Amino acid sequence: MMNNCDIIKDLLPLYADDVCSPSSREMIETHLRECTDCAKVLKRLKDCEIEATIETEKEEVIRHQAKFFRKKSTIAGLIISAIFVIPVLVCLIVNLATGHGLDWFFIVLTALLVAASLIIVPLMVEKKKGLWTISAFTGSYALMMLSIGLYVKEPGFFETTFIISLPLFVYLWALFSLIRFPKCRGLAKAGFCLILTGIYIFAIVNIIAFLAGAVISWPEFHPMIWNYNTIDGNVKWTAFLFLLLLGIVFVIIGFIKKGRKEK
Ligand SMILES: [Zn+2]
Repeated sequence: MMNNCDIIKDLLPLYADDVCSPSSREMIETHLRECTDCAKVLKRLKDCEIEATIETEKEEVIRHQAKFFRKKSTIAGLIISAIFVIPVLVCLIVNLATGHGLDWFFIVLTALLVAASLIIVPLMVEKKKGLWTISAFTGSYALMMLSIGLYVKEPGFFETTFIISLPLFVYLWALFSLIRFPKCRGLAKAGFCLILTGIYIFAIVNIIAFLAGAVISWPEFHPMIWNYNTIDGNVKWTAFLFLLLLGIVFVIIGFIKKGRKEK
């Protein structure tokens, strides 16, 4: 009997796949009726096969879905791009027809590039969406300011624009880096971003003033007095303290959960 079981077990995979000869099939079936041991082995074999089939089908469905959405977003991106091209063409034609040359055409073009960087780039790019979007936004914004500057020919325009724009872009890239690079939990990252945002709201005016060489005065906090003179400082302080506290709580919870997971 024991020997028999070994032979049957060797044959079971063939039997499960339905590729053994009729005589072996008959032998196996006769044996299975008497031997619960081998019957169990067969059941396990079949279960494994079903699991493997489900797994392959699942992967197939996921792949199909991903392909479907990629296609959809590419189409959406193309349609939006086409819509964006219309005003560009209209401006080009009007500019040339009125004999204006191409002066404000570039402002319209670059302004649309800024919008496109935020709408079309995330739709069309597959990998590193965040990096591509923020890079496209920074680049197109710089181009837009350049074309406005060349158009208005105002002295000091570039300097002023640079001073006002720099903190915003430093903040955006810092936010991006905080989300992208640290190897900590999402909650802790959200906490860092909240703290950064609190600092940004609190200090942005003074940072711009500092870059412009103006006098800096830090906002004052009078939580008991709310009037026209105190509201600006009070709102800034409240937002700053609220975001700071919330951020710290998020960071702490994030690190506690991470520590627990590692144990
Ligand atoms: Zn057996």
